[in-house]
Amino acid sequence: MHNLRQYQVPLQRYMALMDLQERNQRLFYKLLIDNVEELLPVVYTPTVGEACQKYGSIFRRPQGLYISLKEKGKILEVLKNWPEKKIQVIVVTDGERILGLGDLGCQGMGIPVGKLALYTALGGVRPSSCLPVTIDVGTNNEELLKDEFYIGIRQKRATGQEYSELLHEFMCAVKQNYGEKVLIQFEDFANHNAFELLAKYRASHLVFNDDIQGTASVVLAGVVAALKLVGGTLAEHTFLFLGAGEAGTGIAELIALEMSKQTKAPIEETRKKIWLVDSKGLIVSSRMESLQHFKKPWAHEHEPLKTLLDAVKAIKPTVLIGSSGVGKTFTKEVVEAMASFNERPVIFALSNPTSQSECTAEQAYTWSKGRAIFASGSPFDPVECNGKVFVPGQANNAYIFPGFGLGLVISGAIRVHDDMLLAASEALAGQVTEDNFDKGLIYPPFCNIRKISAEIAANVASKAYELGLATRLPRPANLVKYAESCMYSPVYRNYR
Ligand code: NAP
Ligand code: MN
Repeated sequence: MHNLRQYQVPLQRYMALMDLQERNQRLFYKLLIDNVEELLPVVYTPTVGEACQKYGSIFRRPQGLYISLKEKGKILEVLKNWPEKKIQVIVVTDGERILGLGDLGCQGMGIPVGKLALYTALGGVRPSSCLPVTIDVGTNNEELLKDEFYIGIRQKRATGQEYSELLHEFMCAVKQNYGEKVLIQFEDFANHNAFELLAKYRASHLVFNDDIQGTASVVLAGVVAALKLVGGTLAEHTFLFLGAGEAGTGIAELIALEMSKQTKAPIEETRKKIWLVDSKGLIVSSRMESLQHFKKPWAHEHEPLKTLLDAVKAIKPTVLIGSSGVGKTFTKEVVEAMASFNERPVIFALSNPTSQSECTAEQAYTWSKGRAIFASGSPFDPVECNGKVFVPGQANNAYIFPGFGLGLVISGAIRVHDDMLLAASEALAGQVTEDNFDKGLIYPPFCNIRKISAEIAANVASKAYELGLATRLPRPANLVKYAESCMYSPVYRNYR
């Protein structure tokens, strides 16, 4: 840590950490586990975003498996070349929507690598069981195509049949090579592909999309925890989203599902408490014809409204969630409007990295005169406002996916069910202590993350058994203890 801290530039810290991962894996994980709050922003958002943007020029050694259009017809063979044979978790991207940074082509590899490092450090999945994959179908990023250090194939993205055939071959090869119980996590695909891939493979493979489902689960947990501070049940609140893509509609659907479970009302009814704004304005029924299918359930009866501010004033949400990838969209007017009709407005600024955040923690607290309950996607430091210190929460997917994946792995689950996402949310929200609430926190501190992951894993596994989707039999009596006993710890072997 002393060595690392000498680097002032975050990207240099990232490079030093990646070198360490290569040189001494155990030490890398030991550092990551013991200094998670300090190192998470380095191996993950925001620094990993910069690393991906410059991936070609900081490249040392391949850290994962690249599968390009050129491997069509031999993907199984390529998988067999990977030195580890027993794979439990794969994180795969095609690099088209890396964080909020757009198309970074196969330089997106930093994301699967970083996510899997967290699977191990935070969720205790063995490093040797993790496989980072980048599918290289080209990039539409002109700058990268011209960049002499770009590491991917230099062509425009393959789409349509060519794309889906390559993905299908990959999905089949993975199942053939590693069996039914390997978890495939889709990461940072553009939304048209993300929704389609999830819908297509959720019935035949163990698949999980972190941008849609992981985000949904972590935000629902934060919302449920926030209710302890603002009062009322989930169904008594009104939600407004800026951004109706993977994150926005994923979160909206899980909130509607939980509301429906709590009130026994059909989900078609509970969805009406939730409104979304996309790049064309409020999603309303008069736009139905031209809406992408994943937005249609959210097209409620209302006059068309163009701007977020108009929507905030008309809908009067109690919870405002930013998930558009565009920064600085929660303006002073928007936050002030939220604070004008809410005693404690709940505001989530989820867009990553920090530069894309809808507003800063400081803005949320000062513009709401210290009344906002605020959480963001990228980390912000505590803020002093009117002599009080506010600690912003981080709605970081890293709370959920490592424990969620561990739960699937230890139960031998063969499919992901939405109820497992609710189980993960419930477990996370249950880890927020009175002491945390007193500080205005709606997420528990990251320093306890391995304990939190074990709780999440146990709750997810329990749901898998309940749903008959678990294959590891008999069911361990104490799932928390069992989860903890399965977790990898970076200790040196004692040869004496
Ligand atoms: P996405 O699927 O591409 O969706 C983006 C949505 O934002 C689309 O609905 C788009 O509208 C809308 N949008 C874009 N520009 C807009 C504007 N100027 N005004 C209003 N709406 C606008 O992306 P995503 O996967 O949902 O991710 C979005 C952001 O959330 C990213 O920054 C990502 O890093 C962040 N995120 C955070 C977390 C977390 O904090 N835990 C988790 C996941 C994602 P159209 O549909 O009209 O194009
Ligand atoms: Mn992602």
